[in-house]
Amino acid sequence: MTGATTYDLRTLLRPSAAALEPYDPAFSPARINLSANENTFGLPEGVRTRVAEALAGAVTNRYPKPLSDELRAEIAAWHGVAPERVIVGNGGDELLFNLFLALGGRGRRLVTCPPTFTVYKLYAELVETEVVEVPRDAETFEVDVDALVAAASEATLTIVCSPNNPTGTLFSPADVRRLCAATPGVVLVDEAYIEFAREGASAEPLLDECPNLAVLRTFSKALCLAGARVGYLIGPEVLVGALAAVRQPYSVNVFSQAAALEVCRARDELAATIEEIRAERERLAAALAGLPGVRVWPSDANFLLVRVPGAHGVREWLRDEFSILVRDLSGAPDTHDCLRISVGTREENDIVIEAMSILIREGDAR
Ligand SMILES: *Cc1c(COP(=O)(O)O)cnc(C)c1O
Repeated sequence: MTGATTYDLRTLLRPSAAALEPYDPAFSPARINLSANENTFGLPEGVRTRVAEALAGAVTNRYPKPLSDELRAEIAAWHGVAPERVIVGNGGDELLFNLFLALGGRGRRLVTCPPTFTVYKLYAELVETEVVEVPRDAETFEVDVDALVAAASEATLTIVCSPNNPTGTLFSPADVRRLCAATPGVVLVDEAYIEFAREGASAEPLLDECPNLAVLRTFSKALCLAGARVGYLIGPEVLVGALAAVRQPYSVNVFSQAAALEVCRARDELAATIEEIRAERERLAAALAGLPGVRVWPSDANFLLVRVPGAHGVREWLRDEFSILVRDLSGAPDTHDCLRISVGTREENDIVIEAMSILIREGDAR
C-alpha cells in the first residue's frame, strides 16, 4: 500500500462487492420508452394537481418521518391491516435490499424461480447468501411447485414474483399457501404488478393465515410514481420490525411521502387507466402474436414477453429506426431471443405494432 503505482483499491473491496456489476437499465433517449414497465399514461390531471399542491406544502427544513407515518396509516387502512405490519421504503428495491440485510448472510439460503427479477440474486450475492434456483418450465414459464416446495424446505427466504417479471406469469394463492406451509423460512410474494392481474390473483388475503408470508408492493408501476421511489411491504410484525431496524432512518424523503400519500388517497381514480392498460395489453399481444415467427406469452402484468428471431438486433432496430426502447433479455439462456415490451398508450402500441410488422415484412432489415 505504498507506491501509487502498486496500490490497488480493488483489493480492499469485499469480494462479493468486487464481483458485482452496477445495475444498468440500458436507457437511451427514445421517443417511446417501453423498457421499464412504467405506467406511460402518467397520473390523471386532477391527481397530478393535488400531488403538486402536496409537494408545494412539504416541509423541507425538517427530517421526514422515519416510518412515513401518514402514508403508512393510509396503506394499512387500505389493506385492512395494523400499521405495525406495514413498512414503506425508498422503492420496493430498498425493501428487498433490507430484507437481505435482515435475513441474508453466510449459511443462509434464498430460493427463487428464474427467469425472474434479477435484483433478488444480486442482493443475495452481495450479502453472501446462497442462491438456489428452481427453474420455471422452459415453454410455459410456470413454476414447478413440487420442486419449489422441496427446495424451500431448507430456505431462509423464498421469493416468488407474481405476476412474474419478465414472464407475466402468476403464482396462485393456493400455491403460496402450500409454499408457506412447507418452508421454515420467510416467503415473499413480489406483487409489483398485481394491479394489472386478474381478480383473485393476490396473496394478500393469506397474510393472516400464513405467519411467514410477506407481500411486496410498489407505487412505481400502476400507481405512476416510479420517479418518486416508494414501495411497501406487508408482513409479520417481527419481520417489519427487523426491516425498520436495519433501514437508513430517512430513506423516504418528504416529497416522496407527500406524493405517495396523495396517490394512495386517489387510488380509485387510477382504475380507468389501469383497465385501459389491461385492454391494450390484450390488443398488443394479439397483434404481435399474429406476426409470423413471433411468440407472445400470456401476461397478467403491464408488459409482454415476446420471442422473435434475432431479438438483440430487433431491439437495436426498434431503437435506431423508430426511437422505441424495449428490454433485451436475449442474453440469458432461459429467455433467449426474448424482448420484454411494456404496454404503452394506444398510440405508442400502434407504433410498436407498425414497426414490428415492417420488420417482419422486411425480414432481413436486421
Ligand atoms: C419494479 C419492480 C419492483 C420495485 O420497483 P421499485 O421501483 O423499486 O419500487 C419490485 N419487483 C419487481 C419484480 C419489479 O419489476
